[in-house]
Amino acid sequence: MVLLQDLKFCLFWLVASWLGLASGFAAADDFRDQPTDVESVVDGLLSQLTLEEKVSLCHANSKFTIAGIKRLGIPEMWMSDGPHGVREEISRDSWKSANWTNDYATYLPTLTAVAASFNPEMATLHGSVLGAEARDRGKDVILGPGVNLARNPLYGRNFEYLGEDPYLASIMVVPEIIAIQNNDVAACVKHYALNTQELNRTGVNAQPDERTLREIYLPAFEAAVKEGGVLTMMGAYNEFRGTNCNQSKHLVRTILKDQWRYKGLLMTDWDCDINTMDAAFNGLDIEMGTRADSYDDYYLADPLLKAIQAGTIPVEILDDKVRRILRVQASIGVYSKDRKPGARGTPQQHDAARTIIEQGVVLLKNSEAVLPLEQANLKHVLVMGPNADVPHGHGGGSSQVKSLFEVTPLQGLRCKLGDDVKITYFKAAAPASDGLRPISPDFVITKDSGAGTPAWKRLTYANADDKEQSNFQWATTSKVVFDDNELHHERLIADVQPIKSGTHVFQIAADGDFDLSINNQTILKAVGSSIDKTKTAEAELEAGKTYKVRLIYHGKHGCTIGWEAPGDKVVDQQVYLAEAKQADVVIYFGGLNHSYDRESQDRKDMKLPGSQDRVIEQLAKANHKTIVFLTAGSAVEMPWIEEVDSLIWGWYGGMFAGDVYADVLLGDVVPSAKMPITLPKKLVDNPHVILDDYNAQECNYKESVFMGYRWFEQQNIEPLFSFGHGLSYTDFEMTDLRLSADSIQRNESLSITVTVTNTGKHAGGEVIQVYVQDTKSSVPRPTKELKGFKKVFLQPGESCEAAVNLGLRDLSFWDTETNDWKAEPGEFQLHVGASLSDIKLVDSFQLK
Ligand code: BGC
Repeated sequence: MVLLQDLKFCLFWLVASWLGLASGFAAADDFRDQPTDVESVVDGLLSQLTLEEKVSLCHANSKFTIAGIKRLGIPEMWMSDGPHGVREEISRDSWKSANWTNDYATYLPTLTAVAASFNPEMATLHGSVLGAEARDRGKDVILGPGVNLARNPLYGRNFEYLGEDPYLASIMVVPEIIAIQNNDVAACVKHYALNTQELNRTGVNAQPDERTLREIYLPAFEAAVKEGGVLTMMGAYNEFRGTNCNQSKHLVRTILKDQWRYKGLLMTDWDCDINTMDAAFNGLDIEMGTRADSYDDYYLADPLLKAIQAGTIPVEILDDKVRRILRVQASIGVYSKDRKPGARGTPQQHDAARTIIEQGVVLLKNSEAVLPLEQANLKHVLVMGPNADVPHGHGGGSSQVKSLFEVTPLQGLRCKLGDDVKITYFKAAAPASDGLRPISPDFVITKDSGAGTPAWKRLTYANADDKEQSNFQWATTSKVVFDDNELHHERLIADVQPIKSGTHVFQIAADGDFDLSINNQTILKAVGSSIDKTKTAEAELEAGKTYKVRLIYHGKHGCTIGWEAPGDKVVDQQVYLAEAKQADVVIYFGGLNHSYDRESQDRKDMKLPGSQDRVIEQLAKANHKTIVFLTAGSAVEMPWIEEVDSLIWGWYGGMFAGDVYADVLLGDVVPSAKMPITLPKKLVDNPHVILDDYNAQECNYKESVFMGYRWFEQQNIEPLFSFGHGLSYTDFEMTDLRLSADSIQRNESLSITVTVTNTGKHAGGEVIQVYVQDTKSSVPRPTKELKGFKKVFLQPGESCEAAVNLGLRDLSFWDTETNDWKAEPGEFQLHVGASLSDIKLVDSFQLK
């Protein structure tokens, strides 16, 4: 219903704004009272702008704004990240927090969770929160959604996007945009295009063949433009065929602006490697974030002005850019008295955040029907794992959100189970130790500025006098290790906050000289000998107080700041295994966090970090009712999968994640989501590894259109869990597949109908997935491609009919000879089921 209204709005908006019929927009105060259309406003303003003023609109004048022109009533255009909540306020001219206290926002489930819902209504909910909150925060453009595809599981930003499938991403991005823009805020679809790795993200040259580009990597952008009416887009950092994406003639001028007839604006990502001429001629409209000393030095600032004055760039080129910028402003009501005010943190917005993750949690395995848990049978639950009690919203890079709160899984379970169920919560210590355990991140309050996770500042110096700093990095542990036999000069610094007051025992195990201080007072020191030294000291520390802990180290092999602290949840293996044996159930919350799923960095491998694999295996042996609940935005290897009966995947679930996870575990929410990514068994099964196509220089997309599940099908590699997989607590039957015709003409669509019945005991949702196969083609085509899906909710015993329509484009491939879409006549097979690996019904039809 919501979706339908928004679609109507979109149609109205598209027709009205592009044909110039929309009313209510006016330029400056003096003509605000007179309803006028977008294009007249744009013409009116454009004709009054001086050359300098026009150029001032084409580049940033602060971190997140472009200039306003006061005398004409043109305000600054304000932008904000990002895809799953409006980012905290940043200083005008630096990346430092502006330190506001009222810049919180609803932390929404990430877009992977939205994609996993396979329900466009969830995208509508997501977009409406994002749009309304951006408006309330005074923003004109929200920098999202992101639609780059998850080609490589190591890619750090997969969690921000809509999965691996171009069709799924295209269907979900449209309602998201419409809902954002329904709030008089422009959406910004990013990153155009082929941003599929963070390894050398600003330099890697993406070189897919044309068919792969059109069939796999562009459809979500195309849908955003043609069906979503997106008003702004952001170019990618990477190069495309040898030039930065933002100034690529093929991507921007030819495809985006000429072929798709995009009328909105294209801005750069923050600090892109462009040049004035290419950017100007090929259709870039706004340059953001370039690291120049002055905003006037941006490529689209003074250099653009000079080129126009010199006649090397015609003024019409500039006018087109300015026209687009003014058009965006007029379309979001900047010049209207009636612009929507937005709203933030309302109960409805919080409900939306909750509903989205209710439909986003994927039940991957439940072989002994351990789930849902029956509260009446629970007396003692052991909770373990690195994600049991940590928030995630503040991490990940530019998509971080400052939310008022975030319910962790442990908090959610405690709240759900109440006082009658004993919950024991432990963290597993590493098995062998060279002294006391490193300081657990629970005590570290210094945060990695990009990942948002607890971290130590690690400073490296060139010499023993510590004068010349040669490196800085964030370290997740109070331990440094070297294996090169060189002499190292390091400092580890963090603010540490005790959980309980009392005696804290500090210990340094090191091979060289060290100095450990608390609040600048040395408590442990060793100088002048190169043999291994371990020293211990005690300190009385108060709970809640902050202590600056600093280690200075000069040595060859590394050192650990170890300790024993009251309140530390980290325990040795005999302790947690004894507890696991006694517990009614063990719930292990593992996975990744934003030290791994994060902007500007790819993962090194597909393994669960730390000791997770080992601990899960041990727990599963100790208690067969061990449930693994993973929080992650990208695939991980699961060597223990056969030992574990129940496995859930929760993404980054937003501010109510913990509540909803508890509801899922206890059966108050019945899982209905499906994987929008393939989970391979091993890293080496992926095309970028097998085809040796992952490095800092170039990405050739050697698997061509066989990306994601298309690859695993083509190569006959069995994944751990296939695309589209997701279980329920109830059972569904799909019967009676009917096609509207045995054959269709090229201008006709085909309607596919299936009867779905809930044959189980719980009310629940199922996704009917339709995969298409061209049985005989002149080019190699994937054996199955998702081209339709429909989510239905049914009571036990209830049936319904689910219908999906296919059009000519759904049957087509990109023909490089005609440079157009082509559907070849002949037989097409339809595979209909509950996932790619659970096809229940097959039929075929002819295209005439
Ligand atoms: C990211 C963008 C983001 C921009 C502004 C860049 O580093 O790639 O996604 O919108 O920063 O924060």
